[in-house]
Amino acid sequence: MNNCPEHAAVKVLKFGGTSVGTFDAVSRTMDIVASRTDSEVVVCVSALSKVTDLLYAISDAAASGDEEKVNGFMYELRRRHQSLAQSLLSADPVRLEKASEKINEICDTLFAVVRSTLTLGDVPDRIKAVIISNGEILSSTIICFALNSKGIRTGFADARTMIYTQGDCLCGEPCFDKIGQAVPKVVEDTFARGTAFPYEGKARDGQRNQVVITQGFIASNLQRSASVLGRGGSDYTASIIASALNASKVEIWTDVDGIQTTDPRICKGTRRIEHISYSQAARMAYLGAKVLHPMTIAPAVSRNIPVYVLNTMNPECDGTAIVPEEESKGPKGIAFKRNLYVFSFTLNGWEQLKDKINDHLRPDVVAVKEDKVVMTVDFSVNLGLFLKMAAGVTDIDLRTGKGQISVVGKNLIGIAPELESRIPALAAHSGKLLKDSELSYIVDSSSLEDTIREIHSLLFN
Ligand code: ADP
Ligand code: ASP
Ligand code: MG
Repeated sequence: MNNCPEHAAVKVLKFGGTSVGTFDAVSRTMDIVASRTDSEVVVCVSALSKVTDLLYAISDAAASGDEEKVNGFMYELRRRHQSLAQSLLSADPVRLEKASEKINEICDTLFAVVRSTLTLGDVPDRIKAVIISNGEILSSTIICFALNSKGIRTGFADARTMIYTQGDCLCGEPCFDKIGQAVPKVVEDTFARGTAFPYEGKARDGQRNQVVITQGFIASNLQRSASVLGRGGSDYTASIIASALNASKVEIWTDVDGIQTTDPRICKGTRRIEHISYSQAARMAYLGAKVLHPMTIAPAVSRNIPVYVLNTMNPECDGTAIVPEEESKGPKGIAFKRNLYVFSFTLNGWEQLKDKINDHLRPDVVAVKEDKVVMTVDFSVNLGLFLKMAAGVTDIDLRTGKGQISVVGKNLIGIAPELESRIPALAAHSGKLLKDSELSYIVDSSSLEDTIREIHSLLFN
């Protein structure tokens, strides 16, 4: 990636859907941004909470030709953004009018795209990518107006002009060389422009912007049509931008006090992890801890940039620092996935299929159990192609209805016997992987949550 010393002090702040979902949340978000303007700041925002789901629903309704549903969802989309703009900009009628026009323009263009697919009986992925990109465009537009209205000089940068991907347009793979060239240029132009939007012309007083706001998740592919980085991809955008700018840090602002020992939504009494190494945080995310997109850590590692996970609802909390630190011994956290494919092969079948498996299935965990190889694969993977390739090579036992629980840490092998003797669901497991840095167990989905709570209580309470 491009080395860009002039941006060495820039910070990248990413705000997730719940941090930009309501008037209160955006107000907190803007206070946090204001408190960070001792250096230049790049703000990367997600769509308002649930808006990406709504855009997927619009696309599905269009694919099934349901015009009434499309109209209802589009109405909801427009109303939600207009009412947020209204509440944030009620004291600034000039900006409110401009923001409102812009929201209508974005929604009108989107509506035209969606309507054009209504009779096709299908929405191709490249059009779906166009549709779902609008959530981040809408949220960043409104927040850009609101930050300027609050007196924070903020310029708008369209991520589609600097984040490039290849491959699947709904889960693109970043083209780091191209991004490394484009991001410093677009960001610097936007700081230098000194106005909010390109159409507002040159700043009269010639001052630089303090903040550049851009969008997480959305990108362009090499043919310059729309693409996205996959669900939850805004975290990834933030660290990609930070790496391209050689930023001083990345702050991921969300709705929890940092990375917890497990998901607080399913387990009471979780604890904040104060420090975690890059590799342990990446592994937790990869193994299902939804607080971070699984790829977030890699770009930061390439530049040794610290990543902090912080709570927009409780900004005084120190959150979690993800740093290249020495790992302390013992368990750090528990990650899990609810729905997985579990494959078993004979050892012979495994040998024959190993390369295809690694290319097509990207397994989470591969473990040997007696004379079998047991492997878990994320539900989102497209199995069809692999099963075709594997047909006739070996007998494959494929199960669903299973979940996976993974304890991440260091020097863990010693704690496995106690876990297995005290927790029946682990003793009855159908597959496990025990490593110094990771214990993973496959359990029935029906006992997943109880088992996580039991493991958590044994390890952390
Ligand atoms: P955002 O919209 O800010 O990106 P997400 O919903 O993607 O937020 O991620 C935050 C959520 O991740 C939390 O509300 C929490 O339920 C979930 N989560 C899962 N595992 C963990 C964990 N180990 N620590 C903290 N939060 C977790
Ligand atoms: N808005 C996108 C999603 O809901 C990306 C993100 O929130 O990180 O998946
Ligand atoms: Mg997220």
